[in-house]
Amino acid sequence: MFPTGVFEEMFTAPEQSGYVGFANLPNQVHRKSVKKGFEFTLMVVGESGLGKSTLVNSLFLTDLYPERHIHSAAEKISQTVKIDASTVEIEERGVKLRLTVVDTPGFGDSLNSQDCFKPIIQYIDSQFERYLEDESGLNRRHIVDNRVHCCFYFINPSGHGLRPLDISFMKAVHHKVNIVPVIAKSDTLTLQECQQLKRKVMTQIAENGINLYSLPDCDEDEDEDYREQCRLLKEAVPFAVIGANTVIEVKGKKVRGRMYPWGVVEVENPDHCDFIKLRTMLITHMQDLQEVTQEVHYENYRAEKLGGGGTAPKKSRKPRNEETFNETDKRRPEGQQADISEREKQLQEKEQELRRMQEMITKMQAEMNQRNTPQKTQQNGEVKSQNV
Ligand code: GDP
Repeated sequence: MFPTGVFEEMFTAPEQSGYVGFANLPNQVHRKSVKKGFEFTLMVVGESGLGKSTLVNSLFLTDLYPERHIHSAAEKISQTVKIDASTVEIEERGVKLRLTVVDTPGFGDSLNSQDCFKPIIQYIDSQFERYLEDESGLNRRHIVDNRVHCCFYFINPSGHGLRPLDISFMKAVHHKVNIVPVIAKSDTLTLQECQQLKRKVMTQIAENGINLYSLPDCDEDEDEDYREQCRLLKEAVPFAVIGANTVIEVKGKKVRGRMYPWGVVEVENPDHCDFIKLRTMLITHMQDLQEVTQEVHYENYRAEKLGGGGTAPKKSRKPRNEETFNETDKRRPEGQQADISEREKQLQEKEQELRRMQEMITKMQAEMNQRNTPQKTQQNGEVKSQNV
């Protein structure tokens, strides 16, 4: 039993006049999301040996690949790309994150490297397909979102820029997934070499019309620190990273790093690499990455699917007025607009059809229930009369 007064305290109107209480809505949303947990899928692509697994383990402080098999050179020649999805549930201060990391071992290893991204595209598409099926089904409230929300593309630090395979891969998937380019093993580059490589990569990306994930612009009323953080994150692309799973003691402090005869390179030291920036970008933009996946990439897939498999014009994110990761996220040419409205009309028609079907099903179910109800009453009636 509650002591008297507790309910009163719980339900009395707030002191301030004109205060309804909806200022607490964000807490409700927060509580619900915390209870449900977050789902996020990160894909890592790049040739083997570039430090993908080491980086993922360093990012989430977990061992995602405890039983990993490293292929020999002979195996690699004939190897096709495998898709390896590992899911871990991480909990931090009561907040659960169901993280799926999709690794793509074998990428760029086989002699026939042009074909190596097909299984990756198939994987991304099959997750969209599954989501589309679930969404069109009756159990829409419990859909598990396994769509790929972000793809870290690992660039070889010794390659003097992007190789043809890097370019063709990014071009093949940039309208399907949010690409975030990273320069692997940046401890193998001097500061100057690293800056040069970053510039070269960004020029190649712009020249080839590749759309990278672009961080949203900050609102005018955002505080100065946050705006500065966003600016620095944008400036850091492609993120030059270092991964390490060993903890070393430096000046009495335990740090994650790589020990060389001349010193220790620290993963989490912003003077040594962009690891912290990459992690900040990922954590602070998880929701945005999910939104872009839903609103742009998934919508493109859906439009293409529902439009009968033809190549629908690609939707890009609502234009962001300022700097983006690259300058290619631009408005569509005017000629395409008519085509788009036609597609959107078709989409709306399909959606209406779907809604009609669902209404019919609900109506049929209601009718069936109604038919059942009198029977039950009758049965009850019978039982009752027997009893009497
Ligand atoms: P993956 O095949 O891309 O997953 O690569 P691994 O994570 O297995 O790393 C391959 C090798 O590179 C291992 O010996 C790692 O210790 C090493 N390595 C990983 N990250 C780095 C890094 O940032 N710098 C350097 N120099 N070596 C790294």
